[in-house]
Amino acid sequence: MPEPSPSMKIDVHSHLMPSAVFGHPPRDFRSKWSPDRASVVLEDEVSERRGRPAKGDLLDASAIVARQKEQQVDLSIVGGWVDAMAAPTNAESQSDWCRLISSELATAVERQASLRWLASLPDLDGGLAAEELGVAARAGAVGGILATSFMNGGLGRADLEPLWANAERLGLPIMIHPGVYDPSETPIAGELLIPVFYPYLTTRAAVEMIRAGVPDRYPDLKVVLVHAGGFLPYQFGRVEHWLATDRVPTVPKQSPSTTSSALSWFYYDTVVHSRKVVEFLIDLVGSSQLLAGSDCPFAMSDWSLIGANGDDYLGSSDRAAILGANAERIFPLHRGTTS
Ligand SMILES: [Zn+2]
Repeated sequence: MPEPSPSMKIDVHSHLMPSAVFGHPPRDFRSKWSPDRASVVLEDEVSERRGRPAKGDLLDASAIVARQKEQQVDLSIVGGWVDAMAAPTNAESQSDWCRLISSELATAVERQASLRWLASLPDLDGGLAAEELGVAARAGAVGGILATSFMNGGLGRADLEPLWANAERLGLPIMIHPGVYDPSETPIAGELLIPVFYPYLTTRAAVEMIRAGVPDRYPDLKVVLVHAGGFLPYQFGRVEHWLATDRVPTVPKQSPSTTSSALSWFYYDTVVHSRKVVEFLIDLVGSSQLLAGSDCPFAMSDWSLIGANGDDYLGSSDRAAILGANAERIFPLHRGTTS
């Protein structure tokens, strides 16, 4: 049973959606497997696909561990597949579904000493999300993963307050992750889903949180923005100026802090496929806010920093912090272990 140690390489951003989950699809949905059972997608009553198919290594914990070993990563934190997590349109049905995903993740990770897991959080109802985080915490979750919730009012919503409060109280980081699960988003995303729409969703979610004053009210809450924060680190000056001059806000402006101070409240993974951007982020927010990630097992996986042949460009203290020590500091990694 590997226990976290200062020299460990910890991947905070990888995914697992145990195939057993799809044996119990959410209410009003069915799981449609491909003929070779290599991929599965949720369909609703009118057979309209919601989200993209889950496939390959994403469905199998041992496959994730094999990739992890190949890349010489010591510990990986796995989250669910956001497209499927956020597919239900009924809040209670989504909450039940997320609880099932969390339960199957706990079971899968129990057999894999080098994995930890994130609670799947429903994004339609903040009270239910807070409840799911609590249930998952008791089952060994080391944090939670939440969809950017673009089509459901975003992450500045007042009903999310119990979630932020519970996460802060429990000391569990929340990872904000984009996904596409509503068919009406598809034309907006177009074929540039991965390189443009995903970072847009993350940027939007972060700005919604800043505008709603979440960093001010929950200074000890830890929120991880995937894909290095989308466009936020590059556009924060523009966001700051806009917030200062926004005379007719659609929501009451509650934040006394500046966007630049909120920048160092967030945490950022390194899944950005660019040494220059990682160096820019270190300069902007400090290495204490960066967490190595891979986005394993997807085609967009980035092993350029954390992988077996990772680029060795960081100074030793930044390297130790980003590759493992920061994750140890903010995630309760000893949870969910039996030793
Ligand atoms: Zn991801």
